[in-house]
Amino acid sequence: MADNLNPFQIAQRQLDEAAEVLKLDPAMHELLRWPMREFHVRIPVRMDDGSVRVFEGFRVQYNNARGPTKGGLRFHPQETFDTVRALAAWMTWKTAVMDLPLGGGKGGVVCNPKELSQGELERLSRGYIRAIGHYIGPDIDVPAPDVYTNPQVMAWMMDEYEKLVGESAPGVITGKPLPLGGSAGRGDATARGGIYTVREAAKVLGIELKGAPAAIQGFGNAGQFAHKLAVEILGMKVVAVSDSRGGVYNPDGLPFEALLEHKQETGSVVGFPGAQDISNPELLELDVTVLFPAALENVITEDNAGRIKAKIVAELANGPTTPEADVILHQRGVYVIPDFLCNAGGVTVSYFEQVQNAYNYYWSEEEVHRLLDAKMTAAFHAVHQAAQSYRIHNRLGAYVVAVERVAEAVRLRGWA
Ligand code: NAD
Repeated sequence: MADNLNPFQIAQRQLDEAAEVLKLDPAMHELLRWPMREFHVRIPVRMDDGSVRVFEGFRVQYNNARGPTKGGLRFHPQETFDTVRALAAWMTWKTAVMDLPLGGGKGGVVCNPKELSQGELERLSRGYIRAIGHYIGPDIDVPAPDVYTNPQVMAWMMDEYEKLVGESAPGVITGKPLPLGGSAGRGDATARGGIYTVREAAKVLGIELKGAPAAIQGFGNAGQFAHKLAVEILGMKVVAVSDSRGGVYNPDGLPFEALLEHKQETGSVVGFPGAQDISNPELLELDVTVLFPAALENVITEDNAGRIKAKIVAELANGPTTPEADVILHQRGVYVIPDFLCNAGGVTVSYFEQVQNAYNYYWSEEEVHRLLDAKMTAAFHAVHQAAQSYRIHNRLGAYVVAVERVAEAVRLRGWA
């Protein structure tokens, strides 16, 4: 990947590749290369010391041909319009690959939430909704939590929106706390969705997962639930796990509960009794059946792709594999489940949250799991089939499925 490209240019290049495979006509291609609607707002906030600070905010509604746009909202000091545009494009492809009746959007506010008091954070959250409130809604554009925004921020935002429109409208935002219309099953949805795709990949590859070794890079929300569910659902043996301080390895398997306790007590998995310490680069190259990158971007590169021994790489993290590494892994027969398919369980359960809000009727956790499984399984097979029939790697296969679906909706509407 060219380092000097900004994220939006990268997103456009990825679309260009899929457009070439699909032989999209030039007008359609041009339409899909750009956000359809963008908002750039200033949000004045009264600070605790009585002064007023003006914050900069964005919301991008990339494409709504398939339905209301949907995507997270980030509070980050280095937020840029182009980052938000890129993330909104990726949400468009992610909702399409999952066949959700939604488009893609994203938002951001340039701020450092760690420097704000709770009161300032609340006033900023409410101010953002006052700025864009007339342009979002359950049937228009639906924000969700992302970097440095959480269920409490979503609760304030929903409340402000309801004041603005004068009625109950929980479906305007997802990732809400359970008592305000959140969905059961959201906590482990990302890892659970990924685990279902690994199960399907093993089926098409003819690989036995029961008792087979797995390694997980990252022991946060995604990585921890991946450990728990790889054992519970797939019967796998998780032999290695890591976090930012390093990793631990035990060929006989690492017990999830005890490891979690150790992490909670010491702040890291490192030093877990009975396991040997290994580095993060060593973990990636272990001889395991499934490797779950669940931490950072760009960890599998052209430098180490030739040494990855896993049969399946399940990308719970966003962007863990560089484009050069993708090609190497594909040539070597390593089966990659690309990020925007593998980690789409989160957005899928967010969509379920919206559906339940619209019904004003709530499902059991078992029901959420059953419906998530059906969505993930269908999406996996659509991508697998596209990659096979076009003879391309799985990531490009996922783009082809997603772009084709959005293009079809655009065509049916007569836009291009
Ligand atoms: P998190 O902050 O809960 O956990 C991140 C983990 O990565 C932590 O254990 C941290 O110690 C570890 N880590 C940080 N630097 C590391 C390094 N250099 N080497 C190894 N480990 C390191 O984050 P999360 O929510 O689990 O997200 C992880 C990845 O999954 C991100 O790429 C995120 O975008 C993606 N993702 C998460 C969700 C979700 O619902 N949580 C949804 C979609 C995608």
